[in-house]
Amino acid sequence: MSVKTIKLNMSYEPLILTTAHPFGISYGTSSTSSNILVRLQFEGLTGLGEASPTRYHDETPETASSLFKLWAESDILGDDPFAIEAVLKRLDKSVSGNRSAKAAIDMALHDLVGKLLDRSLVDIFGFRDLPVPITDFTIGIDSAETVELKTKEALAVGYKHLKVKQGTDYDREIIDTIRGLAPDIPIRVDANGAWTVKEAISKAHYLAEQNVEFIEQPLPKYAPLSDWQVLRAASPLPIYADESVSTSIDVARLAGYVDGVVVKLAKTGGLAEARRVINTARANNFKIMFGCMIESSLGITAAAHLAPLVDHLDLDGALLLADDPFEGAVYDDGYLKVDYSLPGLGVRSRKQ
Ligand code: MG
Repeated sequence: MSVKTIKLNMSYEPLILTTAHPFGISYGTSSTSSNILVRLQFEGLTGLGEASPTRYHDETPETASSLFKLWAESDILGDDPFAIEAVLKRLDKSVSGNRSAKAAIDMALHDLVGKLLDRSLVDIFGFRDLPVPITDFTIGIDSAETVELKTKEALAVGYKHLKVKQGTDYDREIIDTIRGLAPDIPIRVDANGAWTVKEAISKAHYLAEQNVEFIEQPLPKYAPLSDWQVLRAASPLPIYADESVSTSIDVARLAGYVDGVVVKLAKTGGLAEARRVINTARANNFKIMFGCMIESSLGITAAAHLAPLVDHLDLDGALLLADDPFEGAVYDDGYLKVDYSLPGLGVRSRKQ
């Protein structure tokens, strides 16, 4: 008896994204993000995934592309798009880390499963009709004048919640500028690991006076647990870890040392591990924010499917773009709305 095997066919191409404004964080400023689009074809259907590699997650577009080349030329993806966990296990066995590359495969498989079943991923997860948090909009690091301009633009669009990047020698001026324009808008800040413990404690007191909600990644990625402990004990504001937490193992390690964690598909390696990270974070009493990289509506919409599981959303990657190549979750009065009538992720290319 012969068994017909239909292989998962993989292809990939660069996805160069341009931001509307240069986007500054404590590591540097950039106007483009070199992401990679992955397509998985099976039985005439195509699943889409996006990799958003960055150096501060120990990846580059080159490392991701070389893995995609390797995976496309091998049998590692197998012949069953429903075997998501088995595929991810094989990828993890073949190479450690490289999670934005793995996330692209995970996204494309989830998209394909939805398309094969002709159902939105929201129904496959069983998340329909669950409430989701408002998403914030990020004001990147810039001169005080440009921060003023960006804040005015953000308020004019109607963004209801701001995230403010910190990690400069004029952090207070940035917050003062924004608070001058928007005294009551909820603000959270992200230092991307730029502060020492002493600096973070002093800034936390100032930020608490400015009615900031919480501080994301004040300390460096590999700061010792004792530093987090000292900071948490002295800070009037909740402390969240982002760069220091990638997988569920990292979440367990930080239990008791921070108040919350930031989950991103580019760090977890996709939706499957993101759900494990969220469950581990819940079990350890953490607050959870779902964040993103500079990503098109493809990666953002994939993440938006997990929005019902978290406390805060920071899924503004596509809102920062000058020209989004994909159509997916739409910003509507504070919320990211996914079109649940579309199968899979619910994402379409704008270049049809
Ligand atoms: Mg962050």
